Amino acid sequence: MRSVSIFGATGSVGESAYDLLIRSGGADRWRVVALSGGRNIARLAEMARTLRAEMAVTAHPELLGDLAEVLGGSDVQVSAGADAIVAAAGMEADWTLSAIVGAAGLPPGLRVLERGGTLALANKESLVAAGRLVMGTAARHGARILPVDSEHSAIFQALGSDDLENVENVTITASGGAFRDWPLDRLEHATVDEASTHPNWAMGQRITIDSASMFNKALEIIETHEFFGIEADRIRVLVHPESIVHAMVTHCDGGSIAHLGAPDMRHAIGYALNWPDRAALPVAKLDLAALGTLSFRAPDETRWPALRLAREVMAAGGAAGAALNGAKEQALDDFLAGRIRFTDMAHAVEAALDDLTGVAGFTTSPGDLATVLDWDQRARQSAAAWAARHGGR
Ligand code: NAD
Ligand code: MG
Repeated sequence: MRSVSIFGATGSVGESAYDLLIRSGGADRWRVVALSGGRNIARLAEMARTLRAEMAVTAHPELLGDLAEVLGGSDVQVSAGADAIVAAAGMEADWTLSAIVGAAGLPPGLRVLERGGTLALANKESLVAAGRLVMGTAARHGARILPVDSEHSAIFQALGSDDLENVENVTITASGGAFRDWPLDRLEHATVDEASTHPNWAMGQRITIDSASMFNKALEIIETHEFFGIEADRIRVLVHPESIVHAMVTHCDGGSIAHLGAPDMRHAIGYALNWPDRAALPVAKLDLAALGTLSFRAPDETRWPALRLAREVMAAGGAAGAALNGAKEQALDDFLAGRIRFTDMAHAVEAALDDLTGVAGFTTSPGDLATVLDWDQRARQSAAAWAARHGGR
């Protein structure tokens, strides 16, 4: 029996993974080691009971009593807090999904790699904040990372066993998010509710807003660079409103191999779960005749300054990825709390990067978790300071 763990089980990606486990035999087919969640204790407990998990962990220590109570009478052990999540990530499992949102996903992901495990990685923030550390840890311990972000799963599948040397460039697509067609002067007045709707994908609120601002694509360009080791100038972004083509690999001989599929995360998660095999998945098959037309356009960096910031971060290297991610998370918190406007998020992130550029050590890639988290914190403080100076306008 294959053993699996899911971190961030109660989120959007986690729910999709849970759905795949249930549909493919549930507790009779999979040995579920650990599941983690946040404040939705009822859902975490329900998942843990149904899958007969060995361990259920909530990120919130004050909710441990509640979790123990709801799981009373079952065989599921319970624990709580960030350290408990890392400890659960250290429990042997054949396949572990990292579907926590934000830099909080980095410590448990690293722990999986340190035990030489297979890490299905939805948490792109890990690679943005600590690409060198994450990839180096995997290599040192013989661990494997399988990409779960849809574009990266698409590149992985399109590349197959092809040699990167023969790849001229890689293109990832972007739907353009909620404000793709808004007049530019309306963007600064965009509300949280307006930014929280996505034309094609049903996702958690944070990544949905990141899609509207294109910070999600900015993170994904860096994720492509770090995971596949492709130079920044060979990574392209194409706006593709239908979200059917997820990525395309263009070879030196002029041939391009694209990956197409319905916008449903169960494909990328299921692909990673079954890799290197393929299995039937509950994903709608494409009917291109019914779709009729697929459209593409170049991204506009005036509308989406995040894309320019991603290029600057890749050019800077060192701790710039950790700073970008930390500042972006802080700016998103400030937008969600009504402290800054939608368009201010890019300003706050750029200000944080400017503040930290030139600080001693910034040009060195962080070699350990503590250093990553230190740059993450500094960037958050810097972005928060920008919001305090410019917010409430
Ligand atoms: P979500 O907000 O729906 O779920 C996040 C999960 O992480 C929840 O289980 C939550 O309880 C947990 N969590 C949140 N903060 C935590 C913390 N500080 N410590 C521990 N656990 C915490 O998010 P999502 O949309 O499922 O995205 C998860 C990750 O997958 C993100 O990194 C996102 O960028 C990536 N991703 C998501 C999608 C998608 O379709 N939703 C697609 C590609 C990549
Ligand atoms: Mg994606």
